Amino acid sequence: MTSQADAPAAAPLSTDVLIVGAGPVGLFAAFEAGVIGLSCRIVDTIERIGGQCIELYPDKPIYDIPAIPICTARDLVDRLVEQCRPFDPPMHLGQCIDSIERLDNGHWRARTDKGLTFDAAAILIAAGNGSFVPQRLTLDEAVPLEDRHVHYSVRKQSDFAGKNVVVAGGGDSALDWALALRSVAKRVTLVHRRNGFSAADSSVSKMRQSVEAGEMDFIVGSIAALNAPGGTLESIEIRQVGSSMQLDADQLLVLYGLVADLGPIAKWGIDIQAGRIVVDTSNYESSCPGIFAAGDIAGYPNKQKLILSGFHEASLALRKAYSYAFPDKKRVHVHSSYDAKLAERVQASHV
Ligand SMILES: Cc1cc2nc3c(=O)[nH]c(=O)nc-3n(C[C@H](O)[C@H](O)[C@H](O)COP(=O)(O)OP(=O)(O)OC[C@H]3O[C@@H](n4cnc5c(N)ncnc54)[C@H](O)[C@@H]3O)c2cc1C
Repeated sequence: MTSQADAPAAAPLSTDVLIVGAGPVGLFAAFEAGVIGLSCRIVDTIERIGGQCIELYPDKPIYDIPAIPICTARDLVDRLVEQCRPFDPPMHLGQCIDSIERLDNGHWRARTDKGLTFDAAAILIAAGNGSFVPQRLTLDEAVPLEDRHVHYSVRKQSDFAGKNVVVAGGGDSALDWALALRSVAKRVTLVHRRNGFSAADSSVSKMRQSVEAGEMDFIVGSIAALNAPGGTLESIEIRQVGSSMQLDADQLLVLYGLVADLGPIAKWGIDIQAGRIVVDTSNYESSCPGIFAAGDIAGYPNKQKLILSGFHEASLALRKAYSYAFPDKKRVHVHSSYDAKLAERVQASHV
């Protein structure tokens, strides 16, 4: 699939359907859109596709996908990407759909937090539990230091060059970045609340070897306070069992993982109940004409938060979305097994 390196475009990007969310349901929706003759674009807040499957349980086995007796969540996402490939849906990652507005022609204009705009006949919201956002420090003094001294991701390694860097966290990202930043930082210290990690064994061994070799430090403790006189981070108070210590630091990289937040969707004027978009189960349309919801974010009586339910919801939603993209055309149903054009595309994408 085409991942777009987006500079804010002057003119809105036009598409039949804008898919909000690149989780399993958004990915399957991109395939289904192609099958029924709709162009689509996908946007996701995070840089990786796969939603909960990749962020929360990539290596866990899934047993309830029809005709796949067992696969890991990562395998499922790989298969969905493979299935979409004949249609090569453009992906706009690392940006969140922030606002939507209805245009005079009944279409929708959506804007991302990075300034990209889309004009779409319909929007399919497959946003799961909302955007995945980094779990932030709960210290008031961290807020004004954000992006200058306190970071929740690495945008430019040069921000850390020649600095005393503290990396907080015990997962894959924390260990990988602590190891990677050794080559640019003055000194890297990894801080984690216990001497056990939820990261790949190979990264844990590399980190321990690196500490033994004196290339970096590891401290068991938690971040208790930031000392930043005049808005410049100088040191961090680390709380340990029965004591605390001050650690010199210029930059703090907090990698505590991601949490889901419904975020901007709650302000789009769509009916939402108990954090879910209320839909009509005959076509998964929301209270706003042309805006659909599928997957975990769709709410209706007896809703089951299952991947297979999301696939069904997306299929029905897109069939109704077709009538917004092509109001004058009648869509003719063709089973995929009889769809010669689809067969050609699928074969072409596998050579
Ligand atoms: C540990 C665990 C195990 C599970 N096991 C199973 C199982 O065995 N079988 C099963 O069927 N289900 C299982 N589930 C549930 C399944 O993962 C979910 O039902 C599924 O991920 C929902 O898919 P989705 O595409 O609707 O949403 P998600 O996977 O949540 O993806 C939504 C995406 O939308 C993005 N997004 C949100 N808001 C915006 C915005 N405003 N702009 C741009 N992007 C946005 C998010 O960043 C995210 O990437 C499991 C869940 C967990 C947590």
